[in-house]
Amino acid sequence: MRGAMRATVLGSGAGGAFPQWNCGCPNCTAVREGREGYLARTQDSVAVTEDGDRFVLVNASPGVLVQIQRTRALWPRSARHSPIAAVVLTNGDMDHVLGLFSLRESWPFELWATESVWSGLEQSLFIRTLRRFDGHVTKKVLPLDEEVSIAGIPTRARAAPGKAPVHLVGHADHRPDDNVMLSLGGKILYAAACASADVDVSGHPVVLFDGTFYREDELVRLGLSKAVAKDMAHVPISGETGSLAKLAGVSARKIYTHINNTNPVLAPTPEERRAVESAGGEISYDGMEIPA
Ligand SMILES: [Zn+2]
Ligand SMILES: [Zn+2]
Repeated sequence: MRGAMRATVLGSGAGGAFPQWNCGCPNCTAVREGREGYLARTQDSVAVTEDGDRFVLVNASPGVLVQIQRTRALWPRSARHSPIAAVVLTNGDMDHVLGLFSLRESWPFELWATESVWSGLEQSLFIRTLRRFDGHVTKKVLPLDEEVSIAGIPTRARAAPGKAPVHLVGHADHRPDDNVMLSLGGKILYAAACASADVDVSGHPVVLFDGTFYREDELVRLGLSKAVAKDMAHVPISGETGSLAKLAGVSARKIYTHINNTNPVLAPTPEERRAVESAGGEISYDGMEIPA
């Protein structure tokens, strides 16, 4: 029986988390020093449930153990147990995958990923640590544009503009299923990484969207990189083609997640944060509960 769906943002940060271990940018410095209004963030993941008993982790963050520890609903209910019934990967990036290797203590779960993401995973011998016995981690191929049931949640993946993970660039051709957005229970649209905001997110009361960068040239301005947002396949929040403008007409809760540590919306009261909020957007945080 389908109950009330809810999501918990386990990790609202992009790759590198907040603070990032090797970053001395103004945001990372402020959160590291514990300045008021700055919240530390682990890397991207959300837990979704419809029955409150079985949970789907969307992405397996390097912070997964801490995320489970601070989320009571994900605690074991008996001597050897986890409510985590499945993990779904939205792409093969390390910030979405590395947590899998912290979940290897012989608890059976389904691992859903597209063919492209699976082919990347299976190039690594490490994946064998999740195959300790028959039925340990069950390989599930996530199809595009077709509904599948994951822990009782009707789930549909759609290709999202993106790219292959850094470690596979030059080793595999780009495919549409390198990066997906997920429709969960028809209620939540999860698009943690998206290179364009010209995407159809309609029909969902809650949209969790790529909030990696506020500006296209955010890293360049800070002197941290020559790469712009597009090079990393993330559409920025601001600008004419940014997600704030493009999603303005969407009548849904619009919640930014996968927020990079350089993003000015992470500071307590900057104009950028106000711009998001006055346009009806929300900034997610670790532990945010989202009824849907
Ligand atoms: Zn990511
Ligand atoms: Zn930083």
